[in-house]
Amino acid sequence: MSSKDWIEKDFYAVLGVDKAASADDVKKAYRKVARESHPDHNPGDPKAEERFKAASEAYNVLSDSGRRREYDEMRSLFGSGAFRRNARGGGQPGGTPFDVSDMFGGAGGGDRRFGGAGFQDLFSSIFSGGQAGGQAAPRGPARGRDVETEVALDFGDAVRGVTLPLTLRAPGVCDTCHGNGAKPGTQPRTCPVCHGAGVTTRDQGSFSFSEPCRNCQGVGTVVEEKCPECHGSGGVTKTRTMNVRFPAGVADGQRIRLAGRGEPGERGGPAGDLFVHVKVRPDELFGRTGDDLTLSVPVTFAEAVLGTDLRVPTLDGAVTLRVPPGTPSGRVLRARGKGVVRRDGQAGDLLVTLDVVVPARLSDEARTALESFAEQTPPAAREHLDARVRRVS
Ligand SMILES: [Zn+2]
Ligand SMILES: [Zn+2]
Repeated sequence: MSSKDWIEKDFYAVLGVDKAASADDVKKAYRKVARESHPDHNPGDPKAEERFKAASEAYNVLSDSGRRREYDEMRSLFGSGAFRRNARGGGQPGGTPFDVSDMFGGAGGGDRRFGGAGFQDLFSSIFSGGQAGGQAAPRGPARGRDVETEVALDFGDAVRGVTLPLTLRAPGVCDTCHGNGAKPGTQPRTCPVCHGAGVTTRDQGSFSFSEPCRNCQGVGTVVEEKCPECHGSGGVTKTRTMNVRFPAGVADGQRIRLAGRGEPGERGGPAGDLFVHVKVRPDELFGRTGDDLTLSVPVTFAEAVLGTDLRVPTLDGAVTLRVPPGTPSGRVLRARGKGVVRRDGQAGDLLVTLDVVVPARLSDEARTALESFAEQTPPAAREHLDARVRRVS
């Protein structure tokens, strides 16, 4: 006895009852058949014995409401083919909660002829059959894979935009054998096991299952003399170089998508995309905040106090900035339009931070002049701090 019994056997017919028969009717029907076919009443009659066993088996299932329901479900599912579809998707067939482990438990309950192992075999065949069917189906165009790579740009290149040659290593089709894996001058042979189908079919009871051919790994052909370039795989690692345009203003950490620049598609499918992760090397002078460039400029105390014109570099030239008299340390001056030129033609600014530097050493003359200056100027405005100090001390 095997697991396909439930699917193949019509327990209702064995007992001679309708599928909608009540539990009572089932019991009555069983008793009738059992009485008629009992070996004690039919000594030496193998047909009667067979019928008696079949009735016991049928009643064993139909008398248990849980198992009867499972049996009904299973027969309707396999009968309609619904389970096969659902098994692939892993869903619940027919909207009815359908627990495979429950079914094993129910089927195995106290009757070793309904052992769970058989069911497991059957189910694993169905599942693998479903997958194999998917692989073996004629394959249509496939989109090429996306490719990711990283590139480091100079600060100025990132601001201005740049076109760079980018070299990518990716799997590709072997040029020597054009991907069939056979030594030039030879041809792959049709697989003798699957006769080129790439799948083999296995029968299990009233079902047959397809799986990828083990001999040719589902390809349908076998290579006898291997291509020396790719060693029969048909694939090699290919290096390709392409020019990639990085737009002006590309930022550190940005990911640029180049549509259709990934791996080529198969069988006429579109190419994948190329994703480039951008790293921007820092500049020794300039920093960057969004579209603004930043620059720190040291100024003397006298320049900050008296005011001055500063000539400062921009990324591509120089610009004169007016420092008004009385400019505090840390003041940010703005050179409009000297930042990153965006794609819409608008540009960020160059932000110049003034850094008043304190001389570490002074000449005697400078010291004398500074002391004279100090006598002539009011003290720094820190009365509010002095007041707090007096309160706490
Ligand atoms: Zn090759
Ligand atoms: Zn084969």
